[in-house]
Amino acid sequence: MDLAPLHALLPNVVTATYIVSAVLFVLALAGLSAHESAKLGNAFGITGMALALGATIVSAFAAGGSTANLVVSGVLLLVAMAIGGGIGLWRALKVEMTGMPELVALLHSFVGAAAVLVGIDSYAESLALGAAGHVDRVHLVEVFLGILIGAVTLTGSLVAYGKLSGRVSSSPLALPGRNWLNLGALVVALGLGVVFTAVPSPWVQIPCLVLILVIALALGIHLVAAIGGADMPVVVSMLNSYSGWAAAAAGFMLGIDVLIVTGALVGASGAILSSIMCKAMNRSFVSVILGGFGAAPTSGAAALDGEIHEATAADVAGELARARRVVITPGYGMAVAQAQYPVAELTARLSEAGVEVRFGIHPVAGRLPGHMNVLLAESKVPYDIVLEMDEIDDDFADTDVVLVIGANDTVNPAAADPGSPIAGMPVLRVWEAARVVVFKRSMAAGYAGVQNPLFFEDGTRMLFGDAKESVLAILAALPTAESVSGGAAGARLRA
Ligand code: NDP
Repeated sequence: MDLAPLHALLPNVVTATYIVSAVLFVLALAGLSAHESAKLGNAFGITGMALALGATIVSAFAAGGSTANLVVSGVLLLVAMAIGGGIGLWRALKVEMTGMPELVALLHSFVGAAAVLVGIDSYAESLALGAAGHVDRVHLVEVFLGILIGAVTLTGSLVAYGKLSGRVSSSPLALPGRNWLNLGALVVALGLGVVFTAVPSPWVQIPCLVLILVIALALGIHLVAAIGGADMPVVVSMLNSYSGWAAAAAGFMLGIDVLIVTGALVGASGAILSSIMCKAMNRSFVSVILGGFGAAPTSGAAALDGEIHEATAADVAGELARARRVVITPGYGMAVAQAQYPVAELTARLSEAGVEVRFGIHPVAGRLPGHMNVLLAESKVPYDIVLEMDEIDDDFADTDVVLVIGANDTVNPAAADPGSPIAGMPVLRVWEAARVVVFKRSMAAGYAGVQNPLFFEDGTRMLFGDAKESVLAILAALPTAESVSGGAAGARLRA
């Protein structure tokens, strides 16, 4: 049978498949923008990626070549996929929800590394063509940008990984003249870029590439190291955006349309997310990416003095039994303790007893945008009682009990202090409620390293211990709550 006509059709099939994949990626993003459709969005994304991968493998064979070369390419592809897929599967199965942020940061660094490697390989190829008298300046620009963005993404993401996993201190590295250093690096990069594309000699181009690689790697480290704990959410979403642009640059170099589209989608959505996070945190995007531009914090780390009031689980159960309106503000500690399931049970028990229970979610609670929403969705808390900060903030004054479960920076009134590292960041005004119960294990500060005066307020009760254990203890104490409170809600709870 003559397979030549079928073979001739393959490039069209590959292009059509790439278009379908790109549409599926757009649908995935649309789906991921709401809780209800997030699973469907994921399914679209997985299908799009599987199709794109299949089309890429087919395109490698459609390009033709000797049978021996095709066999070698096929074997190499399979081995690479088995290694990459195996590591990915192993990590995905093993990772705890609390480890997701650093895993995402690490994955961003892989995209950066891939863009750098594609850039070097692509330049080596163009060098071979250049020796035959062919110089493509557009391609040289693609190579230069790919290596620049890729290298910044690579080391920036590795530092973010270190900060998020606690391997590197979350406090900002404040080198003298840090903004000038960044500016100088960018100006030198621009100059090297001009020389690299304008002078068609490997003797000039190779040193330019080596220099830009070193500068970009150092810039990535410095940009992220200079960012303080409280601004890390913006950095995480910004590196997400960079990884998209690095992938798009690799797509240009390799001439793979779907990689350009996917990279642009990730790049643009990461940039939009960064801007949303900046607005939510009252930060200027430019200041954050320039590494905490502006005055260094003057207060925040010093230990606070004062009296704290401790409570027991039974006390809190009694308070809840008397309450009419309860708001739960979860934070990173809820993820650490995996307390979302007992919290969901507590919510159901109180709601059944006629207590109005709602959740107030700070945009940077946890360690990943949407971290708390994912945990609450996982434990089947109804979406309609999970409110954003601006939807709930005005209701605290009319709330009987706020349960601050493993949150710290996001409920810290020190944000009103202009010298604080979290100055200006909007926080949940939980202290306006009649009673605040803080669930944590010690008096330690939150991620930004800032002491929290909320713990010393008259209306605050500290419930020390692992959040999951504490909520379970409250659940166990609830049936007897009426004897503590004698209130109407207590009677309902007992029933
Ligand atoms: P924080 O990180 O400020 O505080 C977490 C609190 O949880 C601590 O007080 C800790 O106290 C407590 N905790 C930890 N483990 C447990 C446990 N097992 N049981 C009970 N309590 C526990 O949390 P927030 O969510 O309020 O703030 C998030 C911070 O992370 C912000 O500074 C934000 O800028 C930053 N960030 C956010 C990102 C995002 O995208 N959302 C990304 C990167 C950083 P103790 O140790 O005493 O128990």
